[in-house]
Amino acid sequence: MTHSSTPGIELANGSRIAVIGGGPAGSFFSYYALEYARIFGLSLDLDIFEAKDFTRAGASGCNQCGGIISESLVQDLATDGMIIPSDIIQRKINSYTMHTEQGTRVIHIPSNEHRIASVFRGCGPRGCLDKNVKGFDNYLLGLCHKKGARIIHKKISTVERIDDGILVGHSKTDVNRYDLVVGAVGLNKRSLNLFKNICPAYLKPRVTRTYISEFMMKPADIKECFGSSMHVFLLNLPQITFGALIPKENYVTLVLLGKDINKEVVQRFITSNHVRACFPRDFPVERTMPCQCYPFINVSGGHHAYADRMVMVGDSASSKLYKNGIGAAFITGKAAASTAIFQGISERHFKNYYAPICRDMDRDNKAGELIFHFTKLIQKSPLFKRGILNLIAREQADRHSAFRMSSALWDTFTGSAGYRNILRRFLHPALLGGLLSSSVISNLPSFNSHDYEK
Ligand SMILES: Cc1cc2nc3c(=O)[nH]c(=O)nc-3n(C[C@H](O)[C@H](O)[C@H](O)COP(=O)(O)OP(=O)(O)OC[C@H]3O[C@@H](n4cnc5c(N)ncnc54)[C@H](O)[C@@H]3O)c2cc1C
Repeated sequence: MTHSSTPGIELANGSRIAVIGGGPAGSFFSYYALEYARIFGLSLDLDIFEAKDFTRAGASGCNQCGGIISESLVQDLATDGMIIPSDIIQRKINSYTMHTEQGTRVIHIPSNEHRIASVFRGCGPRGCLDKNVKGFDNYLLGLCHKKGARIIHKKISTVERIDDGILVGHSKTDVNRYDLVVGAVGLNKRSLNLFKNICPAYLKPRVTRTYISEFMMKPADIKECFGSSMHVFLLNLPQITFGALIPKENYVTLVLLGKDINKEVVQRFITSNHVRACFPRDFPVERTMPCQCYPFINVSGGHHAYADRMVMVGDSASSKLYKNGIGAAFITGKAAASTAIFQGISERHFKNYYAPICRDMDRDNKAGELIFHFTKLIQKSPLFKRGILNLIAREQADRHSAFRMSSALWDTFTGSAGYRNILRRFLHPALLGGLLSSSVISNLPSFNSHDYEK
């Protein structure tokens, strides 16, 4: 069956696709490949191989993540008919609370709607006894299963090219031929190395270590101390670019991003007065958390993540710097699926129709690097931090304000907008002028520091 104007390798009725990795990127690829094939009248055989069991609590069922589903992703999913069910959502987030040594400010969503969701990727942290917890990754796999994908809970250990396809296997004796192989293995080093065999030009993304842990708390305490707000910290602590506390139903998730986060950095953060003050007075924050990990996060995209009959998606290919990685998995998964179904599966097809999407994300991340560089400078400057708090307070108090600082910070925290777009807004003369004047005013001796109280 020929369905492309450009010659090359194409999928046909009965073609077999192996998707290695059933995280968001693998699921989004599978969902859209099967949906586009249905529209196109193409019958495909699609297997998703996933090593983890997302119905289990703890590490064996978890793709370590803060679990924030960005505003833009919630909307994109809804547009395509994927309304995240309420039993997957742990808490609807309606505001961000920014903490600095100089004070605290709450930034509300302009429309005051609850459009950001916090979720668990698996079935909750180690030791989680709540049997009602349902994870986001399993929800996505379920959608793929409904579309006709076969979910195989096996870890793939062999990927090998042959003349008319690619062999994929989870043991020496159980190897199958596929027409197309999709690499959605996240940042798993060993699994990424498998793809070097069939795509020697592929370079893995550069990564850095982060930190996640979960504080188990009474729902009433979470409501009282955190509300429906994600708490972000702009503290002058070395190695930390971004720290956040994300409220869920029975847990609060701590996420630390920065440069090579380790035990000492974590300890400094959780024992700092400003973090400690977010918890109930007698809550033992220093006690070892039952579930904590130091996962990697992308600091650059991969290179040349495609070849004949092979494409990589999500973290394995390109992601958004520090934010909205699930949204990036959506973009790359969907773009690779559209290329494979509507264009073809040769290297040239992926180069022409898929690679530009990854390159655009990588270029956007350059603007993100600049934003996080400025953030680090601001972290060290009490003068600018006072100015930002003052400006946010003025904007939030005035319904008719342009909300320039609030909305630029909002999109930086949520990852909902592109970094180039956010950078342009941060550099708007009106915002810079407002920041400068509020920094000067709020640092005058006559300025009332109580204005910074929550
Ligand atoms: C600290 C931290 C906090 C984050 N917080 C957020 C957040 O709040 N919101 C957000 O949008 N993003 C966040 N991210 C980013 C987000 O987690 C990732 O971008 C996203 O999970 C990428 O999806 P993926 O499908 O590409 O990879 P993954 O989610 O890593 O999925 C890869 C899957 O492949 C499977 N796999 C690997 N090798 C094999 C194999 N050989 N055989 C079979 N299966 C295999 C794994 O088991 C896994 O399920 C965060 C990341 C970190 C590190």
